[in-house]
Amino acid sequence: MIRIKRRSPTDPKYSNSPGRPRTIEHQQSIIRPKVVLGNKEKKGMTMNFESFNLHPHIESGVRAFGYTEPTPIQIQAIPPILQNRDVMGQAQTGTGKTAAFVLPILQRLMDGPRKRIRALIIAPTRELAEQTHEAIGQLGRYTKLKSVTIYGGVNQNLQISKLRSGADIVVACPGRLIDLMDKGLIDLRRIEVLVLDEADRMFDMGFLPDIQNILKRLPVQRQTLLFAATMPDDVRDLAESILRNPVTVQVGDGVPVSTVSHAIYPVDPHLKTSLLMKILGCTDTASVLVFTRTKDRATRLAKQMKRSGFLVTALQGDLPQNKRQEALDGFRSGKYQVLVATDIAARGIDVSKISHVINYDMPDTVDAYTHRIGRTGRAARTGDAFTFVTRPDRAFVWSIENVLGEKLERRILANFDYTIPAPAAGKGSGRLRPSGKRPGLTKVPKETPARNAHSSSPASGARRGRKDLSQFPFLVDSPQMKSRRSHGMR
Ligand code: AMP
Repeated sequence: MIRIKRRSPTDPKYSNSPGRPRTIEHQQSIIRPKVVLGNKEKKGMTMNFESFNLHPHIESGVRAFGYTEPTPIQIQAIPPILQNRDVMGQAQTGTGKTAAFVLPILQRLMDGPRKRIRALIIAPTRELAEQTHEAIGQLGRYTKLKSVTIYGGVNQNLQISKLRSGADIVVACPGRLIDLMDKGLIDLRRIEVLVLDEADRMFDMGFLPDIQNILKRLPVQRQTLLFAATMPDDVRDLAESILRNPVTVQVGDGVPVSTVSHAIYPVDPHLKTSLLMKILGCTDTASVLVFTRTKDRATRLAKQMKRSGFLVTALQGDLPQNKRQEALDGFRSGKYQVLVATDIAARGIDVSKISHVINYDMPDTVDAYTHRIGRTGRAARTGDAFTFVTRPDRAFVWSIENVLGEKLERRILANFDYTIPAPAAGKGSGRLRPSGKRPGLTKVPKETPARNAHSSSPASGARRGRKDLSQFPFLVDSPQMKSRRSHGMR
């Protein structure tokens, strides 16, 4: 298994080179950034958090949280935010972008009145809102500043009573926030700083009208910060209309974090579940996040895996909030080693030790691939991303390769019978045949050591029940890859 070496967050290689195209069709829409680098970073010196001159209580919170060096997005974004500039940040999850805006907000709020809502952070999902709230709690633990989360799917009374007892920062999802504004239950007249976090995802989820509605009702005099993993045209238009002379900072250019190694597994659709369980049984994994395309598939797959003895749970948008929280907490604590999720439900999951992201189903867009993969390799840890590829996914593989600028490793799993025919229609197509004993999740079974279990060599594919890559003709190289090779590139 290829592993990319762990890097220091300030390693210049950690931030991908600006200006690298994401996809051909998006190439035009990428904002060309004016990247702001601290002087020390320019000289290649190591930076520490003391360089930001944060309030000692905030510095203590940073230390207590275990951060020693700021990440590139923090180095770029914190100084201009501290200078009260509007900022447009292109940074995906996993880069440390939350602290990049939370720390200067805490700094601003240290002076001035308490228990008045002076900062508003808008997030697309409850999970992201909760994580941001937690980060504020951790980083601001010595500041006595209070944050409150506001989102739907839970009773609003508790949120209202927390607001009444006084908050300095609100982290909200758009829908419930508008409800409370309409009912006069939240006072946003003193907002000094607004953050739109994961703005691209808010667009994907159709929140633009809500955002515009909220923006109209906020003080005009304010600092505005907009963060997004990718900058399609609609996000750029919004940014241009609401940010005043912004400083643009960028890490990654929409390319998945570089601490992640990527591999694809060609497979017929009816064998996906058994392939997944086989991979988990013979790979050294810690926490595994599996993505399916639909809520129903997430639920069904988790049930099938549970029956086979995996410590697994599902996270999908139809679950009530308490169940979602239980699934997330259980995944974080290690009670569940596998979390099967849909894209939207998984948005913002911050479990720092996810070792593997497995795309059971291909995502719909390259951006969604980036977001999914951003769940592993967080904050300079290493991770592996496996993607199951069926025949119709071929063009998509090409798009991802185009964005990454390299060919994805194709893998065939040894000791896996790729020749089992699909069951007749209506007889449980894609369902797992009982495997008996639960495969070890963290232990590698002796008969299939991880280093030998994955193979793309024709020799290992020659035995009965195996395939080699030539038997998956749809995985030929993309025209771009062929041309790169003919020009002597990777
Ligand atoms: P984010 O991109 O904000 O979701 O952060 C991803 C993960 O990186 C979270 O678990 C953060 O707590 C962690 N993190 C953020 N900044 C740092 C830092 N300077 N050093 C180490 N970990 C960090």
